[in-house]
Amino acid sequence: MNFSSDNASGASPQVLRAIVEANPGTAAPYGMDPWTADASRRLSELFEREVAAFLVATGTGSNALALAALAPPGTAVFCHQEAHVIEDECGAPEFFTGGGKLVGIPGAGGKVTPDGFAAALARYPRGIVRQVQPAALSLSQVTEAGTLYTVAEIRALADAAHAAGLAVHMDGARFANAVAAMEATPAEMTWKAGVDVLSFGATKNGAIACEAVVFFDTSRAGDFLFRRKRGGHTLSKGRLLGAQMAGFLDGGHWLDLARRANARAARLSAGLAALPGVRLPWPTEANEVFPIVPAAVDDALKAAGARYYPWTTRSLGDDAAPREGERMLRLICAFDTEEAAVEEFIAVAARAAAVQPR
Ligand SMILES: *Cc1c(COP(=O)(O)O)cnc(C)c1O
Repeated sequence: MNFSSDNASGASPQVLRAIVEANPGTAAPYGMDPWTADASRRLSELFEREVAAFLVATGTGSNALALAALAPPGTAVFCHQEAHVIEDECGAPEFFTGGGKLVGIPGAGGKVTPDGFAAALARYPRGIVRQVQPAALSLSQVTEAGTLYTVAEIRALADAAHAAGLAVHMDGARFANAVAAMEATPAEMTWKAGVDVLSFGATKNGAIACEAVVFFDTSRAGDFLFRRKRGGHTLSKGRLLGAQMAGFLDGGHWLDLARRANARAARLSAGLAALPGVRLPWPTEANEVFPIVPAAVDDALKAAGARYYPWTTRSLGDDAAPREGERMLRLICAFDTEEAAVEEFIAVAARAAAVQPR
């Protein structure tokens, strides 16, 4: 019962096979090989336009390098206050942008709202020498609270960003889970809604270590090869990176994996929500579940060996915050989470919840 993160899993066998098949013989290094070209072609096909895609080994590298391409030294990047880029990347975006400032925006359920964005922008007017100048807005899809921006919400935020002269980045570490969950195509969720650059994640959903920085406006990608090399993300045996991405995308595999993870989360969510004393502060929209549970349920799950993290409650309104004797958990399902693990987790929680005073 390991629900700690989707990176607790290994890689998908199809991705591993793609690497094994790319392995024999020799090929040009540093991403100049046919597998990387194939991955690029597949990404252009997927996004229904010619994109400039660059493979890197980590999500942090992908985000930091993408933001550096959008935000010149000493400018401001706006994001949700719990965004991975501001909370979990050890200052890499600030470092790679050359002293950029990340400005966190509060918002329920992990989402930036147009009002929240406008208020943050108002605090950084243009032309004030004392202040960093706005350069980019970064949105996470799926968000850090496991929620999704609708296409209309992305478009409204991107329009506001562009109107204020900012570029728009999307952190898609779990982009596959978002596409699998929504009625929108990858194109509709990104460039058609105003996203300029996407960090397209594969690692959490089945690759070993592979993410793509995808530029929809290829003219913005001019110096990215240099940035990537300087950032230590130009892999010498690049074909093994290209093979991962190609294997991940082949035959819609990436969406099959994400659909499985989402289905497990939906079942986990429904099973927990039905228990007395358990509530979900926001809906389960992809592969993450955030239940607030009685402490005894948390204790019983831990005693049964379940793994997961307690979670921050900053995305909650006061009325939804855990009360005394309650705890909020984060549960993540991966492409290989087993149904039996989900059912066992629900059963353990149900037994503990049943003995709770109502
Ligand atoms: C996991 C994750 C990343 C990437 O993290 P790495 O550990 O650097 O690969 C980026 N954004 C979000 C929202 C994530 O959950």
